[in-house]
Amino acid sequence: MIAKVLVVEDEPAVRELICFSLKNAEFECNEASNAETAQQLLNKSPPNVIIMDWMLPGKSGIELTRELKTQSTTSDIPVIMLTARDEEDDVVHALECGAEDYITKPFSPRELATRIKAILRRVSPHATDDVVEIGKLRLNPASRRVKWKGEEIHLGATEFRLLHFLMTHRDRVYSRSRLLDNIWGANVYIYERTVDVYIRRLRQVLEPYGADKFIQTVRGSGYRFEK
Ligand code: CA
Repeated sequence: MIAKVLVVEDEPAVRELICFSLKNAEFECNEASNAETAQQLLNKSPPNVIIMDWMLPGKSGIELTRELKTQSTTSDIPVIMLTARDEEDDVVHALECGAEDYITKPFSPRELATRIKAILRRVSPHATDDVVEIGKLRLNPASRRVKWKGEEIHLGATEFRLLHFLMTHRDRVYSRSRLLDNIWGANVYIYERTVDVYIRRLRQVLEPYGADKFIQTVRGSGYRFEK
């Protein structure tokens, strides 16, 4: 899976440099030069990470971050604040507003890519290409393969994303709507019952290996992956 990054930066040269280096690091990149455009892009296709410039014309990066952290559809998206200021107070302020990390200009594009990967690993492990292994079940996002003791299990694209998400978020209960947001996207209007259909399909495929029991139904709440 390719992680999507939204770059909110008003200086075209800086924005282009960031996007150029992120594409080289195999990220998908969307660009916005102000808060308004950023909001529109967020509604259309939620990214896995946001790179947010502090100083923007109109609404500042800090204000926008604070808003995003109060909206249920965007509160989970990690924000890396870009700042020309390196005073400690500002950094504390950025983190208090909900930013997960900050990076001070000038920065090396390689460092930025490394920071994004570190955050994804922590916050959205399902958006990385790291192999996930739980017991005999092994999922490789790069090759899009799932194996049980080396034997390949064939899954549809949605079932694969669902399993990847559950395996990287084990021991936690996810409601149908959280699963929809994370696997289908926050602004896709489909019935919550769709999740049940895909869970059932996934269990059917895993059943011959006895791995269907990992996916537990939590009555009244949702689903949980537990070994
Ligand atoms: Ca700026």
